[in-house]
Amino acid sequence: MGPATADIKVLEEMFLAGLDICRINFSHGDYEAVIKTIENIRTLNKKMNRFVGILGDLQGPKLRIGMVKNNAVELINGNEITITTKECEGDEHVIYITYPDFPKDVKAGELVLIDDGKIHLRVTSTNKKDEVRASIISGGTLSSKKGVNLPNTKISLPCLTNKDLRDLDFALEHDFDWVGLSFVRSVTDIVELKEIIKRKNKKTRVVAKIEKPEAVREIDNIIDVTDGVMVARGDLGVEMPMEQVPMLQKMIVKKCMNASKPVIIATQMMESMITSFTPTRAEVNDVANAVMDGADAVMLSAETSVGKYPVKVIEIMRKVIEQVEEVDSIYYRENTPETKTITFVSDSICYNACTLAKQVGVTAIISMTNSGYTAYKLASQRPKANVFIFTDNRSLLTALSLVWGVRGFYYDKYESTDNTFIDIQKFVKSQGLVKDDDLIINIASMPMNERGRTNMMKLSYVI
Ligand code: PGA
Ligand code: MN
Repeated sequence: MGPATADIKVLEEMFLAGLDICRINFSHGDYEAVIKTIENIRTLNKKMNRFVGILGDLQGPKLRIGMVKNNAVELINGNEITITTKECEGDEHVIYITYPDFPKDVKAGELVLIDDGKIHLRVTSTNKKDEVRASIISGGTLSSKKGVNLPNTKISLPCLTNKDLRDLDFALEHDFDWVGLSFVRSVTDIVELKEIIKRKNKKTRVVAKIEKPEAVREIDNIIDVTDGVMVARGDLGVEMPMEQVPMLQKMIVKKCMNASKPVIIATQMMESMITSFTPTRAEVNDVANAVMDGADAVMLSAETSVGKYPVKVIEIMRKVIEQVEEVDSIYYRENTPETKTITFVSDSICYNACTLAKQVGVTAIISMTNSGYTAYKLASQRPKANVFIFTDNRSLLTALSLVWGVRGFYYDKYESTDNTFIDIQKFVKSQGLVKDDDLIINIASMPMNERGRTNMMKLSYVI
């Protein structure tokens, strides 16, 4: 979301074009603008009977330079430059960095990358107090407030800065479905964030943004504790050699599917459409490949937030996704559940519901859930069938908008299993989602009113 999506009419068209979830990036925009955006999303959800979710993005320990003279300073290869922690307007001799411990954290020989890695500096010395000297390895025009990456440096900033804590409070107060944390370095960053959310009695789920080598090294543990993951290719491709990003993307997506955690592919997916009416063929391929890898979501950033064609870019992305989803090979990713776990009964039901769906060809797998657990489990098998989730937990419906192939419906009449199944079948038929003689699978927990874990499965024809 951004200035280009502020008009509710544009947002409505984006909803129609195929938007499922909105990212609000706390790096930009003030709370007033954000409140308006939230209102617009929720107004449209009501009006259009949709469950578009909201993801708040905490910027984490993102480093930036300050203002520079005339918003354009020429950095020339081979020259030396001073980086200071004392606020000033930067020029070709000195630039200001917003991070006070920068001189303490860096060592001679380490790289300082500015503006998504477009400018490379190498540290020659530091006074360990307020000044660092660096030589310009690869210069260019530097403008104000650009991001800084330190790929070789151990940064002592906490993952949740004071700004993040304020933004998190705001996100929780406004019942965001998801919060993403940038520059996650270890599993404890996620654990801390989840503890704060729990202490505030909120249900908001967490996305770990993978954009540091430390996070890649700890990926298994991070996936274990997080609710979702973002392959944040923008910063990841600066913090690590960018040629490693394609295989890292595939590795992370696969691990997330195995763990039944939704995964987002982010950044530069349709970058050229910030200004151009059509994407490049390479961008179309990139989106298609992300879908083939098994991503739950493909994300747009500047393309929609400040781009010229916020609606068109979603339409094109949707068409690419639909085309890939015609291909059989993206479906039915075997993910055999472990036995001897406390969830193995419901895991086995979800797994076998998908196997059965494949064997007999069903139109829909219909699940009733309060926690959403079965939604994540079913989706991670990527069944070639609609996954319909019925729940009386409203906050779950918008949260599930991030999950592959799931469509949620509000339902609060939990009677006998027989009656509920008949009732739900009538409903999906009336919506044109299934028709007579289609095969469907119901999974649920019996007895229904105890609301335990899923333990039964039924295969039947729609009548
Ligand atoms: P950002 O995260 O857009 O918040 O930087 C995504 C990325 O780095 O790819
Ligand atoms: Mn990032």
